Amino acid sequence: MLPYSETPVQLIQSDFLAKARIKLLVKREDLNHAFVGGNKWWKLKYNLEEARRAGCQMLLTFGGAYSNHIYATAAAARACGFESIGIIRGEERLPLNSTLAFATGQGMQLHYVSREAYREKAEPEFIKDLKKKFGDFYLIPEGGTNAWAIKGCAEWAQQLQEIEFDYLCLPVGTGGTIAGLVSGLDGRNVTGFASLKNADFLSDEVRSLVLDYTGKEFQNWRIETHYHFGGYAKSNKELLDFIQSFEQENGIALDQVYTGKMMFGILDSVRQNKFERETTILALHTGGLQGRYHG
Ligand SMILES: *Cc1c(COP(=O)(O)O)cnc(C)c1O
Repeated sequence: MLPYSETPVQLIQSDFLAKARIKLLVKREDLNHAFVGGNKWWKLKYNLEEARRAGCQMLLTFGGAYSNHIYATAAAARACGFESIGIIRGEERLPLNSTLAFATGQGMQLHYVSREAYREKAEPEFIKDLKKKFGDFYLIPEGGTNAWAIKGCAEWAQQLQEIEFDYLCLPVGTGGTIAGLVSGLDGRNVTGFASLKNADFLSDEVRSLVLDYTGKEFQNWRIETHYHFGGYAKSNKELLDFIQSFEQENGIALDQVYTGKMMFGILDSVRQNKFERETTILALHTGGLQGRYHG
């Protein structure tokens, strides 16, 4: 339903990697769509089809004020002819930041709820109240993670299968993307880099998403939890300096919430010999550049 642009694989040239005898490739999935870029394209693909099949006119979803998922869902809704509602955590702040200004520009109606109320967002009572307020809608959970998102990301893994690599690396938020990739990929190692602090619960979450989708457990993946830089959406000078020099050297922009932490983590892991020598790492650029460097 959403147009898809083919995306290139880019070789990272570096003396450091050459000495470590590691080949690092970046799959530029950030370039797959102008506004619904990166992993969100794959997570939304079957949700959009399902919403249409169910005859819903309206998509409703949840997110923080800088959410890539809110941004992508607003654009996808507009592109596919749905109305959209974004339930935003916290109070309204004017003027709208660039994420929310974009979302409203795409026709998304924003509805703010307190942090306390937001925690209840998956509760049947909360959703019933939303239906009373807004009428019928197709609900996409926070971050877009549900079985349809897993299906889309499993399909993405099929496409990646064509590339020669030993390790697949990607950033992890809710875990939906890695769960789909693990479900769809046969065999090769997958390393996720958690963007949030205290992310030990994520492995259980991913294991159960994979089990629900495939009926199986896999051992070929792990989540690295040491590169959160203070927590979700937190960053520091070391990370921001790294992002800047990586862009200068390789011409690839990274964001400070997801892909910057992943790339920092990959290079640091190479330094610590966590990847076998004479291997190829495929890093997924999952997008997220709309959220770069807000205050
Ligand atoms: C949303 C997002 C992620 C996290 O995806 P999950 O499926 O929630 O783990 C990773 N990278 C970028 C750029 C994102 O926008």
